[in-house]
Amino acid sequence: MAEVTLDRVSKVYPDGTRAVSSMDLEIGDQEFMVLVGPSGCGKTTALRMVAGLEEISEGAVRIGERVVNDVPSRDRDIAMVFQSYALYPHLSVYENIAFGLRLKKIPKDEIDRRVREAARVLDLTEWLKRKPRNLSGGQRQRVAMGRAIVREPQAFLMDEPLSNLDAKLRVQMRAEIARLQDDLGVTTIYVTHDQIEAMTMGDRVAVMRKGRLQQVATPQELYDHPVNLFVGGFIGSPAMNLVEAIFEQANGGFAVRLGDQRLGLPQDLVDARPALSEWVGRELVLGIRPESLEDAAETGADTPSDRRLRAQVTLREALGSEVDIHATIAARPARTDEVKELAADKGLQSLDAEAAEATIVGRLAPRSKAA
Ligand code: ATP
Repeated sequence: MAEVTLDRVSKVYPDGTRAVSSMDLEIGDQEFMVLVGPSGCGKTTALRMVAGLEEISEGAVRIGERVVNDVPSRDRDIAMVFQSYALYPHLSVYENIAFGLRLKKIPKDEIDRRVREAARVLDLTEWLKRKPRNLSGGQRQRVAMGRAIVREPQAFLMDEPLSNLDAKLRVQMRAEIARLQDDLGVTTIYVTHDQIEAMTMGDRVAVMRKGRLQQVATPQELYDHPVNLFVGGFIGSPAMNLVEAIFEQANGGFAVRLGDQRLGLPQDLVDARPALSEWVGRELVLGIRPESLEDAAETGADTPSDRRLRAQVTLREALGSEVDIHATIAARPARTDEVKELAADKGLQSLDAEAAEATIVGRLAPRSKAA
C-alpha cells in the first residue's frame, strides 16, 4: 500500500538549470500515473528524485507515510524499469530476474517462488534458461519488468520503457504493462514523451512543460477540458488545429471572428464563464479538434450558419477506416510561444509568419465516404 506524494518539489542542477519547479503531485495507492511532456520538460528529473537518483533541491517526496528525501535509493522500496533494460548478458533470464533478490539475501526457495511466478505472469517460463542476447526486444523488456516485479516494491518507476521497441511491439507492450499493473495493483509512475502512450495507459496523466506541472487529470478530462493552450495542443493526434481569431459581441451573444466568418459561442459556454464582455475586441487562439470537421457534401451541412466555419479541402488521405483531410481556412495560424513549442515538438514545419490562411487537418468519422 503506497501513495507517492511530491510536495512543492523543485530541482536546480549545479549549473543553475531549474529542471523542476515547485511540483505538487499525489499519486494514489495502486494508481497508474503517467508524466508526459516534450523533451526537456523535467519529467525524468522528477522521476529520478522519487527514485533517489537525484537530490531534491526543495520540497519533499513521500512514499507511503515516509518522507524519503534523505533515504538512499536502495532503501526506498521502489523498483525501476528504464529505457535500456540493463540486463546482465552473461546471466540467464532466471538469474537476471533473481539478481536483486540474491543481493538482498532472500532465501533460495522464496527467490525461486517469486521468479517462477513473475515468469508465469510475464509469459517467460519457457525462456528462463536463455541468455538475453537470444531473446526478442519484447522478451527482454519483459525480463526487465520481471526484475521489478519480484522485488514486490511499494511503487514501480518507469522511464520510457518502450522507446527501444518497434512501433508494433510498443502497442502490444503498452497494453501488457497496463494490464499487469492493474493485476498487481502496484502504484506506478510512468514517464513518456508520447501522448498516445500517456492517454492509453494512465489512470491519470500529468502534463509538464518547462519544469512546471500544467494539468493532472484523467485522459478524457485532459482531452475534453484542457486547462490551457499547451495541454490542448499537446494532447490529441492529429493535433488540435490552432488559429487566430478575434473575440466579438454579436447578435446579443458572443462570437469569435476568423477573417470574414463568425462562429457564435454556445450558450452553455457563455453561461459557464462570467465577465466575457472583458474579452470583446481581443485576439485569441481558437482550437479546432480534427474530428470536429465534417464533410459538408455528406452531412448536408453546407448552408451558412453562425455555428459552423467553412474550410476548403485541399487534400484527402484515406487511412482505411478513416479519412484525413487537409483544408485551408481564412484565418492566420496561431503563433504564440506555446504554439511554436508544440510545432517544434511534433516535428511540424516552422510556422509561416506571413501566412494569411491556415491549413487545418480533419479526421472524418470512421467509414465516412470522402466525397
Ligand atoms: P527527455 O524526454 O528529453 O528525457 P525530460 O522531460 O525527461 O526530457 P529532463 O531530462 O528531466 O527532461 O531534463 C529537464 C531539464 O534539465 C533539461 O533542460 C535538461 O537539459 C536539464 N538537465 C537534465 N539533467 C541535467 C544535469 N545533470 N545538469 C544540468 N541540467 C540538466
